[in-house]
Amino acid sequence: MEPLRRRGKFLFLPFDGTSMGELTFVVHLMQGGRLVPDEKQSAKPRFGMARWTFADGRALLLTESGNERKAGVWVMSGDPLDQEPLLGLGIEADQVTVDELTALVESKNMRLHGFLRDQHHLAGLGRMLANEICHRAKLSPFAMTAKLSSEEIERLHEAIHTCIDNALAHERTLDAMSKSADRPGAVHRRKGDQCPVCGDVIRAVEYSAYEVDYCPACQTGGKVLADNTTSKFLK
Ligand SMILES: [Zn+2]
Repeated sequence: MEPLRRRGKFLFLPFDGTSMGELTFVVHLMQGGRLVPDEKQSAKPRFGMARWTFADGRALLLTESGNERKAGVWVMSGDPLDQEPLLGLGIEADQVTVDELTALVESKNMRLHGFLRDQHHLAGLGRMLANEICHRAKLSPFAMTAKLSSEEIERLHEAIHTCIDNALAHERTLDAMSKSADRPGAVHRRKGDQCPVCGDVIRAVEYSAYEVDYCPACQTGGKVLADNTTSKFLK
């Protein structure tokens, strides 16, 4: 059996010897999904979405607390990378080189925060890392990507790798995956707090599904950002 793999935010659980031959279960945890050892194997597990039972009697449970119910499981035969929803995923964020990043930001002219979250450009980053990366790189979340200088792209590249490394270092001190709210960060969900770098007050631009959090002094030359897109009126 192949080892577990990851592509972007998707986990691959490969199984052979199933009644249907070789299969890969592709799992996306979204915000609240967790894969946990299922010791009780009760008939109606709390928050249970899917269970894998192994020949030796052990089991793995996919749980999703809260009521978002967005975690997903796909069952695939053949190579998952050739199939939806994996098609079109961008370069793995933790492996992107400066040259690749330069080509990507030059090919799209869009707001940096949206660029970082779009899985077709870079795969693996979410809302929190997008906020933390913009802050560490001292770039406005609304900076237009095609206008970034080579020096700014180098800062962005360093920030992507450092923020991912810091987040993984934190997770690896824990027995179970952390909740988003408990993850250490400088700006994410810290509206009203002081910036740990400069002491300015963290600001937020709020959307229905997420917040763009930033430090004006570090990132926008003191300017307070407003949501001046029309997208909120079109939804
Ligand atoms: Zn600051």
